Amino acid sequence: MARRKKIYEGKAKILYEGPEPGTIVQYFKDDATAFNAEKKDVIDGKGVLNNRLSEFFMTGLTQIGVPNHFIRRLNMREQLVRNCEIVPLEVIVRNYSAGSMSKRLGIAEGTQLPRPIVEYCYKDDALGDPLVTEEHIAAFGWASQQDMDDILSLALRVNDFMSGVMLAVGIRLVDFKIEIGRVYEGDFQRLIVADEISPDSCRLWDIETGQKLDKDVFRRDLGSLTDAYSEVARRLGVLPKSNVTKPTLIN
Ligand code: UDP
Repeated sequence: MARRKKIYEGKAKILYEGPEPGTIVQYFKDDATAFNAEKKDVIDGKGVLNNRLSEFFMTGLTQIGVPNHFIRRLNMREQLVRNCEIVPLEVIVRNYSAGSMSKRLGIAEGTQLPRPIVEYCYKDDALGDPLVTEEHIAAFGWASQQDMDDILSLALRVNDFMSGVMLAVGIRLVDFKIEIGRVYEGDFQRLIVADEISPDSCRLWDIETGQKLDKDVFRRDLGSLTDAYSEVARRLGVLPKSNVTKPTLIN
């Protein structure tokens, strides 16, 4: 088989040149990192679960008209996506306080916020992805005012969609991060949801028990990450039945 050209290797994914112009193959690795890659491990099966879950969320977004990069899943670990220019921002939406916001503002984890709060971090690992304001974004030209309006609207639509989908299976969407891509169509450019949406980039808590079903399980050593992600996939009906039920003997 012909060797594919690797375009980029990140902490959790590898990007290869796609089969058609304007496409990319996104490969989901089993590697887990936290605290800016200070904590690392290989978690068997994480890539397979995130490939499936990101497909599920992106397909749902397409169905409600939220533009995103997903084209189709290729196999267990790979999906074909639209090539785009990534806006150098991590767009974070929070419904409940947790993680860095709780630390920064001294708000107890799990406190419901009066409304969804959107934050922006500048994507730069060497700087630890610092929080920035719209003033920084405009002044340094990372995105225009029109882009910021579009990004806010995309972020809030993703939040409503994800919150509803999760609520339906007894999970609270505490917060999440998305990345935004720029695509060019003739003389026009537009912004789409890119990268991935998975338990790696969301905080998901069981509504009844508060059990964490996201990457905090790895960050805070709370048990098996694959079990947590499998539980999310199982509730959403994303895992093939054969993976969730043990074979039983019928007399
Ligand atoms: N997040 C992410 N990638 C990052 C930073 C944050 O996916 O590089 C997600 C994280 O999983 C959580 C949300 O964004 O769902 C908010 O993260 P927070 O700012 O609280 O940072 P953390 O506590 O993860 O350092």
